[in-house]
Amino acid sequence: MKLVLIGCPGAGKGTQAKMLSKKFDIAHISTGDLLREQIKNGTELGKKVQQIMEEGGLVSDDIVSAMLAERIQADDCKKGYILDGYPRNVEQAEGLYDIVGDLDKVICYEVEDKVIVDRMVGRRSCPNCGKMYHISYNPPKTEGVCDECGTALIQRKDDNEETVVNRLKVYHETTAPVIDYYEKKGILLRTNGVGDINEIFENVCKALEGIK
Ligand SMILES: [Zn+2]
Repeated sequence: MKLVLIGCPGAGKGTQAKMLSKKFDIAHISTGDLLREQIKNGTELGKKVQQIMEEGGLVSDDIVSAMLAERIQADDCKKGYILDGYPRNVEQAEGLYDIVGDLDKVICYEVEDKVIVDRMVGRRSCPNCGKMYHISYNPPKTEGVCDECGTALIQRKDDNEETVVNRLKVYHETTAPVIDYYEKKGILLRTNGVGDINEIFENVCKALEGIK
């Protein structure tokens, strides 16, 4: 089974990808993780990527394609894989087709922007033990203080409203054509990304029935 997951930052697709990967015994491939791995392992590609990143450049589609082409040859991809965070634009989607051929499904997790803003702007974390909170949905017992270790909670710099709104805008601009592209191919599955994590998962599993 070859899947692609699409969803804006904060839509929870990473969690869903892990659940799908476990259920169907297919690899969960995140291109961000792949890049970090290449750098960590000091491969030729990794050295190139590190240099580009240090110079503040963007890693080209060619490099990501080459990395993906290699990754899907691994043993854990025999039954299939889930691509998470890729493709991000139509050029990448076309490049992906050249590497893997037809996909089985492209799952798009739909969450309204205002829900994402609310989720992300309300996040707080403990700089000491790493525990995560949300000011409305998962607040600490004492406002602003970690339940576990009593440390003052912090808000990540990226979690302010302006940054989140801006990231969403960029996401919609670049991803809308990708969604169209897969819709035309007849393999797009739109699913509601709001609500119970298990329910979202079950809905997708139902839609995947019969695919090998
Ligand atoms: Zn703590």
